Amino acid sequence: MSGEDSGIHGPPKGEEWSMENEHGIVPRRPRVVIVGSGFAGLQAALHLADRPVDVLLIDRRNHHTFQPLLYQVALAALSPGDIAQPIRSIFRNRRNVEVLMDEVVGIDTTAKSVHLRSSATMPYDYLILATGSTHSYFGHDAWEPYAPGLKTVEDAIEIRRRILLAFELAERQALEHGSHPPLNFVVIGGGPTGVELAGAISDISRLYMREDFRHIDPSKAHVIVVEGAPRILASYPEDLSRKATEELHHLGVEVRNNAQVTDVQPGYVMANGQKIESVVTLWAAGVQASPLGKMLGAEMDKKGTIFVDPYLNPAGHPDVFVCGDLANVTENGHRIPGVAQPAMQMGTHAAKEILADLGGKPRAPFHYFDKGDMATIGRHSAVADVKWPFHAHMSGLPAWMAWLTIHIYFLIGFRNRIIVLLHWIWMYFALSVGPRLITGSQKLPGWAKLIGAESNPDEKWLDPNSPGAVETPPS
Ligand SMILES: Cc1cc2nc3c(=O)[nH]c(=O)nc-3n(C[C@H](O)[C@H](O)[C@H](O)COP(=O)(O)OP(=O)(O)OC[C@H]3O[C@@H](n4cnc5c(N)ncnc54)[C@H](O)[C@@H]3O)c2cc1C
Repeated sequence: MSGEDSGIHGPPKGEEWSMENEHGIVPRRPRVVIVGSGFAGLQAALHLADRPVDVLLIDRRNHHTFQPLLYQVALAALSPGDIAQPIRSIFRNRRNVEVLMDEVVGIDTTAKSVHLRSSATMPYDYLILATGSTHSYFGHDAWEPYAPGLKTVEDAIEIRRRILLAFELAERQALEHGSHPPLNFVVIGGGPTGVELAGAISDISRLYMREDFRHIDPSKAHVIVVEGAPRILASYPEDLSRKATEELHHLGVEVRNNAQVTDVQPGYVMANGQKIESVVTLWAAGVQASPLGKMLGAEMDKKGTIFVDPYLNPAGHPDVFVCGDLANVTENGHRIPGVAQPAMQMGTHAAKEILADLGGKPRAPFHYFDKGDMATIGRHSAVADVKWPFHAHMSGLPAWMAWLTIHIYFLIGFRNRIIVLLHWIWMYFALSVGPRLITGSQKLPGWAKLIGAESNPDEKWLDPNSPGAVETPPS
């Protein structure tokens, strides 16, 4: 029976959910397995908490990450713990929700079970897949070690390491030799993440660190956004894209549109046949869905997102729901974007459909309630395409105030909200940022070439624990 047949699902007619034990066949509560504790999975689990189901929430990490603020960890404005929350602690008092740190590596829809990396198998009556997306280097995975992307807390710490290290190495070089290579920071991709990273690098160099060095002038750092499309923030209305460009120029950020990146190497990027020297290159250009679609054997688009019907079910699987960045959902001919709001709404909707089944009620199709999009540019500017409770295009300080309020509101954990708010107030007035820690390796890809030094081929030039780390530099 598919989601479009009758709209009513659950155990076969006249039967209860049941299990066999020493007392024979006894009734039991349906088991919902949720894979992924990001925005979608977390909402689904919260909605099913204290309901007549047993929930197993599986994530390969032990924490939920508030990805929209990752760039602030990468730029040392916030600590990882401010924007991430242990999943177990979120469900401490929700007795019907069990949390398991493990990775799903296979799905058997016939046996109705998921296989875990630990080799365990977990049965389900309903399965919610919400494993999100990751970076895509468009077939150039070799670029990853030289241009890390931002998706996890580990990525943010690695980016923080590289950016802060670039200033430290420049100071050392200037102290020893009187000059240093240009501090060019190249951000590939002018979507919201690229724009936010670029604005924040400009802030940290122009404002927060300007008094901290004796031999270099951090404000001379040059941030370049390289965008392949004719404009940055291509998914936003044109006037907001223009505003964002103006705001970035105001912060000293150079925006190169229509620039196709053809190579990324340690110390430089090639775009439109031109070499751009770079002490730190960051990747904010593309995403692809997590590989769960392949495991499910469902129909997918070329980015690996799973096509689902209006009930969020892949074809032929009314007991499987796909939510968030992993889902390819179309409404009124428009693809619903892979951002936090739809992910949260899909998670809630999947939970509601399961509860409707259990109550013998028909399922309702998913409808995305679009409240709009926003992106920050530096410490007190943003652009916002507001769609609710009114329609407006906002920019500058008012948009930034709206951004700030919304991000504080949606952060998980009361402690995090208070701490983040206090950090921001402190940063705003004291012009000082938080945890500027360099952890791990003290090597920067390409630095040796930029200063004209021979690098030692046996040297471990990246922290082996860093994402994309390699043991020896390429020849
Ligand atoms: C840097 C950055 C900034 C962003 N800024 C914004 C913003 O300002 N506004 C906005 O609306 N959106 C923003 N987004 C997008 C938004 O964060 C995503 O759309 C949203 O997180 C998607 O939610 P999700 O639940 O589908 O996946 P995610 O939140 O990515 O969660 C997926 C979860 O699944 C887990 N997982 C993955 N594979 C497995 C597996 N095999 N087994 C077990 N667990 C697994 C992961 O560990 C993760 O916890 C941003 C994204 C990034 C990366």
